[in-house]
Amino acid sequence: MPETMIALVTGSNKGIGREIARQLADLGHTVVIGTRSAANGEETAAELRAAGGDVTSVTLDVTDAASAAAAADTVKDRFGRLDALVNNAGISGRPGADFAGQSPASANVDDIRFIFETNVFGVVTVTTAFLPLLRLSESPRIVNVSSSAGSLTLTSDFNQPDPIALGYVPSKTALTSLTIQYARGLAPEKILVNAVCPGFVATDLNGFRGQLTPAQGAAQAVRMATIPSDGPTGTLTDSDGPVPW
Ligand code: NAP
Repeated sequence: MPETMIALVTGSNKGIGREIARQLADLGHTVVIGTRSAANGEETAAELRAAGGDVTSVTLDVTDAASAAAAADTVKDRFGRLDALVNNAGISGRPGADFAGQSPASANVDDIRFIFETNVFGVVTVTTAFLPLLRLSESPRIVNVSSSAGSLTLTSDFNQPDPIALGYVPSKTALTSLTIQYARGLAPEKILVNAVCPGFVATDLNGFRGQLTPAQGAAQAVRMATIPSDGPTGTLTDSDGPVPW
């Protein structure tokens, strides 16, 4: 790992992403806050700079390929490379939609498609845009913020209490699967690709019902964003270790 890493965290104006950015900055790394609202991104970057971090922001809507390409150009102009891409941006539902659209009894395919656009296709869009910059790093790595909610092993237990959700849950299963495909495909280039589960964290995503703080939820993503170049790839972990697929 270079002494000072250049890291980009998507969806980092609040919640777990903001904490990932803060913790990476606290470790002395240069952090780029990627947000779809330029004002939110700059506000967050200014707060983290005020706390001593080397932090800037870039506008990045993960569902928009042109936005991702423009963000990659900006990072290239500023830093010339990217060492760590943290695909954190995610949603649990379509804004304004109620949960019925994710229920098997009343599924709304547009609600489900909307979630996949962000949580799955957004990761491909952003990764595609930033791969050329990751290839310029001596120690490139990608961290995908997935979830144990997408674990087939855990969710196929009919006795487990988590809500059934046709959009969010399969989107995280797909993201974990994408992680393995990227890890295998990019292994010859020594680009490490890992998925993490933050745990159940109190954020906007779940109406602040989670039990962990965003700082606790960020810790595993930060760990995997800072692994050495001979570190693991193609894993799904949380702060206790491997999560069942
Ligand atoms: P959050 O507080 O709602 O933050 C989500 C972030 O994603 C926000 O910054 C949001 O930006 C951003 N975002 C959404 N759509 C975007 C888009 N199209 N382009 C760019 N940014 C976008 O939720 P969180 O809990 O911190 O979630 C972060 C990640 O952790 C997600 O991938 C989530 O699935 C995962 N996760 C969370 C939990 C949990 O318990 N909270 C558990 C497992 C996994 P805006 O402010 O502009 O909306």
